[in-house]
Amino acid sequence: MARPQILWFRQDLRLADQPALAGAQDAGPIIPTYILDDASPGLRPMGAASRWWLHRSLERLDAALAARGARLLLRRGRSADVLCQLMEETGAEAIHATRHAEPWWGPIEARLGNRLRLHGATRMLRPGQVRTGSGTPYRVFTPFWRASLAHLPPPTPAPAPARLAGAAPPAGDRLTDWGLLPQNPDWARGFAEWQPGEAGAEAALRAFLSRVEAYAARRDLPSEPGTSRLSPHLHFGEISPAAVWHAVEAVAGPQAAQPFTRQLVWREFAHELLAQYPDGHERPHRPEFERMPWTDTEQGEGRRWLRAWQKGRTGYPIVDAGMRQLWQTGWMHNRVRMIVASFLTKHLRIDWRTGERWFWETLVDADLANNAMGWQWVLGSGVDSQPYYRIFAPVAQSEKFDALGYIRRFAPEYAGHGPVNPIVEHGAARAAALAAWQALRAPGQRG
Ligand SMILES: Cc1cc2nc3c(=O)[nH]c(=O)nc-3n(C[C@H](O)[C@H](O)[C@H](O)COP(=O)(O)OP(=O)(O)OC[C@H]3O[C@@H](n4cnc5c(N)ncnc54)[C@H](O)[C@@H]3O)c2cc1C
Repeated sequence: MARPQILWFRQDLRLADQPALAGAQDAGPIIPTYILDDASPGLRPMGAASRWWLHRSLERLDAALAARGARLLLRRGRSADVLCQLMEETGAEAIHATRHAEPWWGPIEARLGNRLRLHGATRMLRPGQVRTGSGTPYRVFTPFWRASLAHLPPPTPAPAPARLAGAAPPAGDRLTDWGLLPQNPDWARGFAEWQPGEAGAEAALRAFLSRVEAYAARRDLPSEPGTSRLSPHLHFGEISPAAVWHAVEAVAGPQAAQPFTRQLVWREFAHELLAQYPDGHERPHRPEFERMPWTDTEQGEGRRWLRAWQKGRTGYPIVDAGMRQLWQTGWMHNRVRMIVASFLTKHLRIDWRTGERWFWETLVDADLANNAMGWQWVLGSGVDSQPYYRIFAPVAQSEKFDALGYIRRFAPEYAGHGPVNPIVEHGAARAAALAAWQALRAPGQRG
């Protein structure tokens, strides 16, 4: 009789188009396992909003597995230790998993050696598949996108299996004992608009398909439901990017789908950058930004500014609406992410890493690769980013992208786009940011 196979779930919490599941199932009865790992060396524990999402997603995954004849085993600890022990306990033959991009998995996977079978990836393109003519990685998005098209569309996604052969699972933890949900206070009440899990991802995709043709026209308008809101589902792997790609192309056709499928390739690009810069959430790609004289946020004015930004009390309606959307719902519109990140790093000259960490803690889609790239892009410290001197003017952005509906929803005390008792004045803050940047540039360097 075939020996049991451990199916190690990470950020691939789905049954459809799940290469690790397919590989494990072909080899023998499966023991689907999720490990809450806060302790492996170098691993960055999930933030609070992601933990909320994870709890709900694991509930749904277990229910979907149970409906097909298997159960989800939960264990907590260092992934490599837990998996080695589990192999001993169960006599399992192998561990099956999907390839992931976060740099901390490498040493863990190395410890598992040939017991680990890696299948497919959490992305559409294989790591390193798209290279320049001279074999080096791309550092600029547009040529990466063009070169990617030679390898896309991705293969047609596989459906979820109707039945699964589950091996008798050993004893595991209870999800409720992991304390992933907030208790007192329950700050996640506003997260009720989300439906984590694979069925929720499919529902979000279906809803988006009815508006996909308007994506290009509406994606930058925060008052409109213009974007897909698939980011937490994609981050947790509740739906494969290939499934999203094919569904969107089937409705809109390859050409009209491009403004959207291009965004899916930004995600691929972020993963490639993460491979080149594994510490991209801590170190600027452009080293001169290490010398930026950041505002001290431990005391005085800097401390007050940071609190005002985090709580959405800067006096700028679009910034405050964005920060409150983030706090209330665990998500923020992409255009507004750019505006608030620019405001923090340029108007307030607060270290981008402080903002990156706040997003990591509060976003339900917090993603090492996308978040680091987003912050570096806005600051201007990334290999492919806007120039530092592009400083988003919050009022002009709010007007241009017609944000009044959005402001009314999340910061209703404001009547218009203009600031009310702002913590900093735009013109002066902009000038100070540009002066700091000029001082940082090496003599003779051209902007
Ligand atoms: C400062 C900053 C921080 C960010 N942090 C994150 C993060 O932690 N996690 C995250 O998933 N995205 C992050 N983004 C990228 C982007 O804002 C979100 O992916 C997007 O807002 C998600 O909404 P959506 O699913 O409706 O996107 P859609 O416009 O519907 O796009 C579809 C999918 O494409 C991918 N995508 C879209 N834009 C980008 C992008 N610029 N970079 C990489 N992938 C993209 C996402 O997976 C997204 O779900 C960040 C952007 C900025 C400027």
